[in-house]
Amino acid sequence: MADTTVTNPSMSVSDDELIDPFGRHVTYLRVSVTDRCDFRCVYCMAEDMTFLPKKEVLTLEELDRLCSAFVRRGVKKLRLTGGEPLVRKGILTLIESLGRHLDTGDLEELTLTTNGSQLRKYAKDLYAAGVRRLNVSVDTLDPDRFKEITRWGRLDQVLDGIDAAQDAGLKIKINAVALKGVNAHEIPQMVTWAHERGMDFTLIETMPLGDIDGDRTDQYLPLSAVRGELNQYWTLTDLPDRTGGPARYVRVEETGGRLGFITPLTHNFCESCNRVRLTCTGTLYMCLGQEDAADLRAPLRASDDNDLLMQAIDEAIGRKPKGHDFIIDRRQNKPAVKRHMSVTGG
Ligand code: SAM
Ligand code: SF4
Repeated sequence: MADTTVTNPSMSVSDDELIDPFGRHVTYLRVSVTDRCDFRCVYCMAEDMTFLPKKEVLTLEELDRLCSAFVRRGVKKLRLTGGEPLVRKGILTLIESLGRHLDTGDLEELTLTTNGSQLRKYAKDLYAAGVRRLNVSVDTLDPDRFKEITRWGRLDQVLDGIDAAQDAGLKIKINAVALKGVNAHEIPQMVTWAHERGMDFTLIETMPLGDIDGDRTDQYLPLSAVRGELNQYWTLTDLPDRTGGPARYVRVEETGGRLGFITPLTHNFCESCNRVRLTCTGTLYMCLGQEDAADLRAPLRASDDNDLLMQAIDEAIGRKPKGHDFIIDRRQNKPAVKRHMSVTGG
């Protein structure tokens, strides 16, 4: 493992916390560890995707070095995502290694967003490495519809993975993308299912990221409408926001469980944004909805010490924009941002 200590005392590397021009502390890093996936969800990827050549992708050691640099600069929460993080070869080595920052207390949480397909295989090891919570994406409980949405996925495999994860002691939050005419009618049933199993449930609005095969205006379902409908037969009590993120939570009084709404299009969450996103090629996106990015791979590969890397991180955080300007409408049926969600990570 690369040593991340300063080797040249004449060049001091900042240990300062990362604070952007709007005074927001960056304490949350999401890392896409691969752009590859064993599913082809219709809102996320085209069926025929071209993935990155291996040399472009950071090695596991490089990912460790980068994540550790951010932890040193005050990042408290690391989320590994993708693509599908658990299809990256050797991923457990990276997770186990990053777990050392939990042991020292420098990192408060190490977590993943996964499609659940590999959880039977990895659940126990994830727990042993210090992971305590996972987000698992499940858009429907109907096996045929699951196949239609994910193209290559199998619902029974994912549900079995969730069983294994809960048995291993991992706390699960289910994420579902709300899709008009696809799973909208199933939402109450899914919320009930999740809450009965002690899992939080969060709905996500589709975001205009990357070219896909279909028309996004056909998929877009505003969550304000979903919430309005759920309000007719459930009592939804607003909960104070504790995540600093884009989710707004309510308690469903009838089930006792938490229900979240991630509404990047109908609710502007940017003012409390505490996060940045790193791709598997070492590109840092300061905002999910903007094209501006910083290349951290070049400074990372340029030298064994972290001076150049830390400088590049400082420059990047100094450019974190105030917010995004997503829009989906019929006149502008183009992705607001060309890269796919599987590149930046969800
Ligand atoms: N493969 C993992 C999974 O599916 O959970 C992790 C990566 S995936 C890109 C992360 C999350 O982004 C998933 O919950 C997925 O449903 C969501 N997602 C993908 N494309 C999206 C889009 N265009 N709009 C909104 N959410 C999207
Ligand atoms: Fe894969 Fe996740 Fe994208 Fe689905 S949403 S294609 S599981 S990366």
